[in-house]
Amino acid sequence: MGNRWSPFSHQVKDFLARNQIPYQWLDIELEPEAAKLVEYAEADGRQHLPLVLFPDGSRLIQPSNLAIAEKIGLRTQAERPFYDLAIVGGGPAGLAAAVYGASEGLSTVLIEREAPGGQAGSSSRIENYLGFPVGLSGSDLARRAVTQARRFGVEILTPQEVKGVRLQDPYRVLQLADGSEISCHALLVATGVSYRWLNVPGADKLTGAGVYYGAAMTEAIACSNEEVYLVGGANSAGQAAMHFSKYASKVTMLVRGESLTSSMSQYLIDQIAATENIQVCTCCSVVEVKGDEHLEAIVIAHAKTGEINTVPARSLFIFIGASPKTDWLDGAIELLW
Ligand SMILES: Cc1cc2nc3c(=O)[nH]c(=O)nc-3n(C[C@H](O)[C@H](O)[C@H](O)COP(=O)(O)OP(=O)(O)OC[C@H]3O[C@@H](n4cnc5c(N)ncnc54)[C@H](O)[C@@H]3O)c2cc1C
Repeated sequence: MGNRWSPFSHQVKDFLARNQIPYQWLDIELEPEAAKLVEYAEADGRQHLPLVLFPDGSRLIQPSNLAIAEKIGLRTQAERPFYDLAIVGGGPAGLAAAVYGASEGLSTVLIEREAPGGQAGSSSRIENYLGFPVGLSGSDLARRAVTQARRFGVEILTPQEVKGVRLQDPYRVLQLADGSEISCHALLVATGVSYRWLNVPGADKLTGAGVYYGAAMTEAIACSNEEVYLVGGANSAGQAAMHFSKYASKVTMLVRGESLTSSMSQYLIDQIAATENIQVCTCCSVVEVKGDEHLEAIVIAHAKTGEINTVPARSLFIFIGASPKTDWLDGAIELLW
């Protein structure tokens, strides 16, 4: 239970969704039942939300991802001090490596900071993955890969972050966020990339309160019958637009370039063109986001006309690419970025 515009509530929902933990979300503003449950759980009013109730009757108030992980039985600490193969990152690359390593009999541990599936896990529809001719959702792909990896005995630690590495030949020693260490013979870094942040006034303050990164799956239902804005013109934005078009009354894509053709796959361009409630605005950039408690308006600049418009908005989803986050490797291996 929580408030739709609370970044804390968004974080809990996103964590549960990305880790494929079934949950029911009750908005304290909209659902009378939520207020009753908050009172029953003695959560001491709205200032102590989000409140998470578990099937066994226990509760957590404003929990960290780690606290939820421990409660629902996710493993965050390694069983042993040493592995043949340690993999950092649980996206498609890390999960695939884990399946192959473990299937060859290597003792394998995979360490994932957020949730297995990586970027692909947040995709609403992947249509070009080998072996899935009609496509599948990113969460389905992640669930299948995790099941396959576990079947071969891979130990998956999540949420757990690798903060550093030390070479102690012939071993590599990983330093984890909780202070513990894991040694291995072979270390495979599959950390992919992290979302690039929208660097405009207001964006930091409103992140999680109307401004979201890659959260199409988590927030789509909350946007039912509302107008949704997306920033970005590549495939992830296109997929998200198609997904939102099933819930939102209108989806407006704000694209910096002159068209989608140089940045998006043709199959998505065709789908978008055939979807009535998606509008593509080219040569448009967001230059500011406004709101006190939550997003209330977006300021959009048009590169060709020089026009600047402020439009009312409640939800803005950002898909403007990503960059590698490999600073923790600095000093241990040569970085080219
Ligand atoms: C919304 C969306 C839709 C997409 N749709 C498609 C599609 O339809 N088709 C397609 O081909 N591609 C698609 N992509 C791109 C595709 O998802 C990526 O190419 C793919 O996920 C890359 O896989 P990866 O395993 O290399 O890295 P990632 O998926 O980026 O995974 C890296 C993982 O490493 C973890 N990590 C990073 N640093 C650390 C650390 N220090 N400690 C522990 N863990 C760490 C991260 O949390 C992350 O889970 C999409 C991407 C997005 C965002």
